[in-house]
Amino acid sequence: MAGIYIHIPFCRKKCRYCDFPSSTELFKADEFLKVLTAEFRTREKGIKKFDTLYVGGGTPSVLETRQLEKLFLSITGAFGEIKKFREATVEINPESAAPEKLKLIKAAGVNRLSAGLQSTDPARLRFLGRLASYPDFLKTYKAARKAGFGNINADLIYGIPGQTRAEFRKDLERLTDLRPEHISAYCLEIHEGTPLGELNPEQDEGEAADMYYELINFLERKNYLHYEISNFALKGRESVHNLNYWDRGAYLGFGPSAASHYKNTRWTNTPSLEKYLKSMKRGRHRLFLEKLSRRDVLNERLILGLRKINGIELDGDIIIKFNDRLEKLAEKGFLEFCQGNKPVAQAAFVAKSRILKASRSDAKRGRSCNLRHLLRQKRCSAFSTQTEQPHCGPKCRLARWAQPGRLCRRTKSRDCSRIGVCATGLKVRIKKNFLFVSNSILSELIEA
Ligand code: SF4
Repeated sequence: MAGIYIHIPFCRKKCRYCDFPSSTELFKADEFLKVLTAEFRTREKGIKKFDTLYVGGGTPSVLETRQLEKLFLSITGAFGEIKKFREATVEINPESAAPEKLKLIKAAGVNRLSAGLQSTDPARLRFLGRLASYPDFLKTYKAARKAGFGNINADLIYGIPGQTRAEFRKDLERLTDLRPEHISAYCLEIHEGTPLGELNPEQDEGEAADMYYELINFLERKNYLHYEISNFALKGRESVHNLNYWDRGAYLGFGPSAASHYKNTRWTNTPSLEKYLKSMKRGRHRLFLEKLSRRDVLNERLILGLRKINGIELDGDIIIKFNDRLEKLAEKGFLEFCQGNKPVAQAAFVAKSRILKASRSDAKRGRSCNLRHLLRQKRCSAFSTQTEQPHCGPKCRLARWAQPGRLCRRTKSRDCSRIGVCATGLKVRIKKNFLFVSNSILSELIEA
């Protein structure tokens, strides 16, 4: 899986809570598009096929029609026809998404829209400094359906100072009546350096947590699948592009502040539009470049993977590195282990982590550590069912000294010779009651 992210750093007006890199200097959009096209040419050439495209911002729909045409032309020139992407999304805001723009976006081959609603309450929208009202959103939503969009996401914000649960419920009722295919809902974050940050209004965290659980329960009742901490979708409409982020897939980012990930290397463009325009001319737009260590990769697999409601599969690498912390957090009740989707007792995890540790230490000392062998010796009851067998061939040892040249039965590759790739049949996930505080759980997990 590989994706493309394009950041359009312009908005008509800055929202009061916004700390995203976006500028209201729309007169720079033409120059920006030129530079963006040049950046496409300097892209990493290793990825041959892209599955998803996401044009975000900022507000891409703020571009004039002729500028949107130019943008789509540049994308097609660099990456091929937009209609060939499995998922191609453009972010819009109602104040700038006139019906003719929506038609143009659709005709360009885009098959998904992401629209900013945030709230249906006029007082909350004013507080947030949003330009569009709920009736504006409704008009745009209807125009988008008329233009042929069958896959629309709507963004909501909760935890707004002064917002009541009843108000938020109203937001949910109104939005779900429209049946958008996807809903993203985020708790308001107030950042220093923004107008709301200056104001520093009090936020009621308990109330925000209640709204979050109201959100989950309400949307589940309406048949939305809760698949990531803040994301919900009708069946089969999960965001393919975002799932690729959480699965640590490859993606290339273009435009100011856009991030890329390819072959365990991450890099980010400068967030400043000025610097981006200047540095691109000199061919130096990348700000950070980081080659991830093995430890970074494992940390990322946990941090990103555990954002998904179904959690992540536990393999030897994760267990060996994190078993103590996983055990502790499970004891505290924050995490749970599962077999498929069914929770299992922590004892199953403890047994597997012990046997994997023993196998690795055997391997380090050059001793045979074949799990089947351990099974025969009844040293490993944790792997006793068919589905829990390690997926390597019968002669593959759970060590670096696996039979060279044998193909792994599951991955059909030759690189399953490390203990780390052997499946345990177990998954770990954050318990539903603690999803609201997932950030602190995740940071506890990766503490050095
Ligand atoms: S529309 Fe989005 S990017 Fe633009 S100012 Fe508002 S929050 Fe920021």
